[in-house]
Amino acid sequence: MAIEREAAPPRAMHDGLGRRIDYLRISVTDRCDLRCRYCMAEKMVFLPKRDILTLEEIAAIAGRFIARGVRRIRLSGGEPLVRRDFGELVQMLGAHIGHGLDELTLTTNGTQLAPHAAMLSAAGVRRINVSLDSLDADRFAHITRGGDIGRVLNGLDAARAAGIAVKINMVALRGVNDDEILRMLRWCDARGYDLTLIETMPLGEVADERTDHYLPLVEALEPVRAAYDFLPLDYRTGGPARYFGLSGLTAKLGLITPLSQNFCAGCNRMRLTCQGRIYMCLGHEDHIDLKAAFRAGGPEGLDQLLDLALATKPVAHDFNISRGAAPATRRHMSMTGG
Ligand code: SAM
Ligand code: SF4
Repeated sequence: MAIEREAAPPRAMHDGLGRRIDYLRISVTDRCDLRCRYCMAEKMVFLPKRDILTLEEIAAIAGRFIARGVRRIRLSGGEPLVRRDFGELVQMLGAHIGHGLDELTLTTNGTQLAPHAAMLSAAGVRRINVSLDSLDADRFAHITRGGDIGRVLNGLDAARAAGIAVKINMVALRGVNDDEILRMLRWCDARGYDLTLIETMPLGEVADERTDHYLPLVEALEPVRAAYDFLPLDYRTGGPARYFGLSGLTAKLGLITPLSQNFCAGCNRMRLTCQGRIYMCLGHEDHIDLKAAFRAGGPEGLDQLLDLALATKPVAHDFNISRGAAPATRRHMSMTGG
């Protein structure tokens, strides 16, 4: 008689504080074709190519993490779409969807989305985040130090044609785009996109004084509150955003408030950089270098280091955006992956 086996219990990783860790963000390159003022300095020094993991190495490390319990992966950067042969990585990772991996997503500035959208869809990417801090072409060019909004809009059209759902990421910046939040929300709603607003975080030196442009979202939302009723939603996408419905709109509004309303207690994430480092927190310098162990021992060589990383995940970031305060890390967000 055949013995019925109970299904294996779901794999799960937990950190030293008991938080379940099942979300991996991968920064596939630190390079970018834009220079957003809150993200990067104008003259950035990027990593030499010899220090960067190959796409096969990234896929193999990610594969091990999936075997250990990672269920969602977001590819980010820098700008992921500037990495040569990026599509090969998407295909390698996409093959895990339904076999341990629930979802593969992407955060992109959209400038190179048009030629990549069909490939992303074919590899199993069903939704992406596209960063767009202004709908005004001149303002967009100012914020990004020279970006062409037309390319982003073409990329968004291509994503729609490929059947990929879009969420727009907008960093709320005092005196820069705070007068555009309601317009952006209505624009997203008309196009079937969700919108997430993000508070600017003190990561890496940039030429601008971040304090001048830091805008707590509670303040940024005043015009939206005047126009719509907010309905808190249970909807989650695995990331840190809290979502709200708005009376009369179909767009969901996500809020990422690392400074004004800390969300670290529910953190489920770890981050792999293109150098092969694992960071358990965006806001700390502590990391574990996986590259040497991986090259010496293959994927299995990672397990001990991964256990160490889990055990030492910090309780919380300690961002301080007061005038004159140093950034929380020397690393820019583009290094760790947003
Ligand atoms: N280049 C892609 C993009 O812009 O979407 C992916 C990488 S970017 C680092 C990911 C997200 O981080 C973007 O939405 C960007 O606006 C956001 N970001 C970058 N630097 C930030 C900072 N210092 N504070 C808050 N958000 C930041
Ligand atoms: Fe590049 Fe994204 Fe940083 Fe802008 S936010 S400079 S697009 S990595």
